[in-house]
Amino acid sequence: MSDTVEKIVIIGSGPAAWSAAIYAARANLNPVVYEGSYTEENRLANNLPMGQLYTTTEIENYPGFPHGDVGAYLKSAIGEERSYMLAPHEEGGSVTGPELVELIRQQAVNFGTRVVSAEIVDLDVSQRPFKLTDNEGETCMAQTIIIATGARANWLGLASEEQFKNRGVSACAVCDGALPRFRNKPLAVIGGGDSAIEEALYLTNFASKVYLIHRRDEFRASKAMAKKAFDNEKIEILFNRVPVEFIGNDTEGLTSLKIKSTVDGQEMTISVTGVFCAIGHTPNTAFLQGKIALTEKRYVELPQAHRMATSVSGIFAAGDCADDYYRQAITSAGTGAMAALEAERFLSAEE
Ligand SMILES: Cc1cc2nc3c(=O)[nH]c(=O)nc-3n(C[C@H](O)[C@H](O)[C@H](O)COP(=O)(O)OP(=O)(O)OC[C@H]3O[C@@H](n4cnc5c(N)ncnc54)[C@H](O)[C@@H]3O)c2cc1C
Repeated sequence: MSDTVEKIVIIGSGPAAWSAAIYAARANLNPVVYEGSYTEENRLANNLPMGQLYTTTEIENYPGFPHGDVGAYLKSAIGEERSYMLAPHEEGGSVTGPELVELIRQQAVNFGTRVVSAEIVDLDVSQRPFKLTDNEGETCMAQTIIIATGARANWLGLASEEQFKNRGVSACAVCDGALPRFRNKPLAVIGGGDSAIEEALYLTNFASKVYLIHRRDEFRASKAMAKKAFDNEKIEILFNRVPVEFIGNDTEGLTSLKIKSTVDGQEMTISVTGVFCAIGHTPNTAFLQGKIALTEKRYVELPQAHRMATSVSGIFAAGDCADDYYRQAITSAGTGAMAALEAERFLSAEE
């Protein structure tokens, strides 16, 4: 264990963590970021370093990145030691998820952020400075901590789903719904909660029709939300059905979805160019259980509105690990900046 007590340690590696690091580094807090680890377990759990953006293609809604020659800019901004991980940039297109998060990381590193490629597996919050233990068994001490460990979209787990991810299969209507492949085409949403209905309603802005597919015979969503789905002419509700296979080809991506009745087992195939899985998210907070307060859905609890302070004085949270509502790159980056500003003020008040 190092004797050094860090002013601030940031856990995570999505837009929240790197944005917090930019602010902390510029405030001379000399931050350390634990970015996670490239283990097989994390690969299987969709929890590799650099976060959810690394699993997607174009990002069209992050401010500051209109279509343009992002490729040339990337070459000038990111060193070869990282850029080799990025796919060649298509001329004139939008910034991609991996490119965007690499740019935010680089900005944090340029201001002096130190990066440790390990995952925090345990926290001792019983006294300050806090003690953090990583998956290599190394420990470090910190006066303040920002938790920015994100969340994972839940997927159905079908083999064919993997094949069409980013080519018709998505887990975020707000992120992807406006992409050309989904416009004026029939789409499907899987799920029966409020989020599934919200996604379906949102997609009616672009789609020719939206199938809402739910495995039970009634929605888990609130009555008011369910009514909105029933009342929308573009939405066709298919109760008692589960997806069994995503169908498509190399050139067009997803073209249809095979579903099965949970009542009589009969199968049918519907033509769709997009399927949105809205079956919930899992926040990456297992290691915090019993250490800081979590919500019923296991997100980090933020007791005060518009503040990033957690139940433990000196520990802050940002991004999707504390947000089951907005779940966007821009909101994660924004709350990352807020958490760093709060940590800085917390430390100044103590001095
Ligand atoms: C397919 C897809 C497409 C999307 N498209 C868009 C889009 O177009 N626009 C948009 O705004 N948003 C989009 N989003 C949502 C966006 O990616 C998330 O809102 C955002 O990435 C959340 O950022 P975050 O910083 O909270 O954490 P995440 O991006 O979730 O990253 C957190 C990272 O922290 C690391 N970590 C976890 N636990 C630990 C630990 N114990 N120790 C160390 N490190 C740890 C993990 O490796 C993880 O990678 C998309 C999401 C998905 C899944």
